[in-house]
Amino acid sequence: MVFADLGRRLNSALGDFSKATSVNEELVDNLLKTICTALLETDVNVRLVQTLRSNIKKKINISNLPQGINGKRIVQKTVFDELCTLVDPQVQAFTPKKGKPSVIMMVGLQGSGKTTTCTKLALQYQRKGLKSCLVAADTFRAGAFDQLKQNAIKARVPFYGSYTETDPVVIAQEGVEKFKKDRFDVIIVDTSGRHQQEKELFAEMVEISEAIQPDQTIMILDASIGQAAEPQAKAFKETANFGAVIITKLDGHAKGGGALSAVAATNTPIVFIGTGEHINDLEKFSPRSFISKLLG
Ligand code: GDP
Repeated sequence: MVFADLGRRLNSALGDFSKATSVNEELVDNLLKTICTALLETDVNVRLVQTLRSNIKKKINISNLPQGINGKRIVQKTVFDELCTLVDPQVQAFTPKKGKPSVIMMVGLQGSGKTTTCTKLALQYQRKGLKSCLVAADTFRAGAFDQLKQNAIKARVPFYGSYTETDPVVIAQEGVEKFKKDRFDVIIVDTSGRHQQEKELFAEMVEISEAIQPDQTIMILDASIGQAAEPQAKAFKETANFGAVIITKLDGHAKGGGALSAVAATNTPIVFIGTGEHINDLEKFSPRSFISKLLG
């Protein structure tokens, strides 16, 4: 089941539940069964689904539940709260401020949407009045610099990159130094993503990170990779120790639950979600509004 259908499924289960005349254990169990099946079908990790189910059952305490509308409200609210908990590791993410240069390093596999998201993010911060810019330190993927450059020009965001320098560490360092001197508030550094040469990718990430000392490292996680998201995020966490995640492609045919589970497994907050290919398709993430919107 694609992520977009999850909300409809949950909503209809909660709607059916609210129409019942009395609240009993069987009714609650059926509701939880439908919710858990829907979550599993969108690739949410089975452990997380089990925890969600047992937390809801514990909190509801069915034998003491009032009958009628109040009982139903308690169940609905508990379900809502636990869905929020699923996407909320209760960790505060770094937020850049005006007047002090913040360096943000973007990491992730090739094709995850890193380069696209760099410009989307710069644009978001720019609209909030923060002077933002981009550094193109992905020297591995042919065309990455041109892509970033084109996006940056379209978004009117200053950028730094090189057609001749092949060492991404040098580019990252030079770009960050230049923009710090120019008193930018947000300096976003795009790095290489790879499919196979993980070792080299990780070594390069560490080198760049040591050279530019980012205030925040953000992992870009593609929602369409399903359950592969969890081991991938764990491997990046060990090496790059990212402090936030942006989930991309939640709009398309992605199941999405794998990426959400990966976030829980690494105990890292989601800061934005990518909802399309356009430069404006980036939404600020907050657990409660995400779940509210999901449930319509
Ligand atoms: P990179 O290799 O990680 O730098 O990935 P790119 O930024 O080149 O993106 C790979 C593809 O994913 C491009 O076709 C993007 O337009 C697309 N993409 C990126 N973010 C999103 C998103 O949130 N939704 C959708 N539908 N496509 C996206």
